[in-house]
Amino acid sequence: MSSDLQPGNTAAARAVPPEVLMSLQDVEKDYVTEAVTVHALRTVNLEIHRGEFVAMVGQSGSGKSTMMNIIGCLDRPTRGRYILDGIDVTHRSNDARAVVRNRLIGFVFQGFNLLPRTTALENVELPLVYRGVSAGERAKRALKALQSVGLADRLHHTPNQLSGGQQQRVAIARALVTQPPLLLADEPTGNLDTRTSYEVLGLLQDLNRKNKITIVLVTHEPDIAEYATRIIGFRDGRVRLDQPVTKRRFAADELAKFEAELEERSA
Ligand code: ADP
Ligand code: MG
Repeated sequence: MSSDLQPGNTAAARAVPPEVLMSLQDVEKDYVTEAVTVHALRTVNLEIHRGEFVAMVGQSGSGKSTMMNIIGCLDRPTRGRYILDGIDVTHRSNDARAVVRNRLIGFVFQGFNLLPRTTALENVELPLVYRGVSAGERAKRALKALQSVGLADRLHHTPNQLSGGQQQRVAIARALVTQPPLLLADEPTGNLDTRTSYEVLGLLQDLNRKNKITIVLVTHEPDIAEYATRIIGFRDGRVRLDQPVTKRRFAADELAKFEAELEERSA
C-alpha cells in the first residue's frame, strides 16, 4: 500500500494568505463502524476569511456537524488538511488542539449548555478559571462580556431565572470572554421563539460588524442563513453551494417589522 493512502498521510499543506482564517484542503471524514463506513465529508475545499459571517446549511445528515467538529478542532479529518489562523492543526495531538481551541474559538450551542444553579457571572467566568486568570480579573472581564450582550442587569441570576434568549446571550458572553477571533454557533436559535431569535441574530451581526469576530453558524433554516454574508450548502458530505448573500437580512429591521405587525394586530 502506498503511504499516500494511509489516513491523514496526505500532501503538504498549500500556502494560506494571512487574510484567510480557515483553510480546508481536500478534507474528508469517514466514520468507520463495524457494519459500514460513512463518508460524512468528501473532498471539501474551503477558505473562510477573517471577518466573514458564514452560514452552513444542509439537510440532516449532510455533514454540517462533522464540519463544525473539524473546524472547531474537536475532531480531525480522515484525509486532507486543516489550517486555522496559519497553524496546521491536522495532525496535532488532542492536547495541542485544545490549546488552539481555547485561544481561538468560542462555541455557542442550541441547548445553551450553561451550568445550572450557577449565576450568569460565574458561568461567563468559567473559561477564565480554566486559564488561571485571577478572581478579580475574571469578574471584571465577565462583567464586560455580559454588558456587551446587554445583560448587565442579570449578573446574579441563575439560568432558570432567565428567559431562553437571555440564557443564549449568557452563552454568547461565555464564548466571547476569552476574546476569540472565531465564534462557532450550531443552531443557536433552534430553541428560541421568533422575537428572541431576532435578538440573538442581531447580537451576532453586531459582534461580526463591530468587533470583527468571524462567525460560522450552522442552521437547517434557509431564512436564518440570510443574516450571514455567505452561504455554504452541504449535501451528502459535499459543498454544493457557496455564494454571497445577495439580499441580506438585518435582525434589527426584522425585529422592528415584527413589533409593528404585532401592534397592528392588537390595534
Ligand atoms: P448534519 O449535522 O448535517 O445533520 P452530520 O455531520 O451529523 O450531519 O452527519 C453526517 C453523516 O455522518 C450522517 O450520515 C451521519 O449519520 C454520519 N455520522 C455522524 N456522526 C457519526 C459517528 N460518530 N459515527 C458514525 N456515523 C456518523
Ligand atoms: Mg448536525
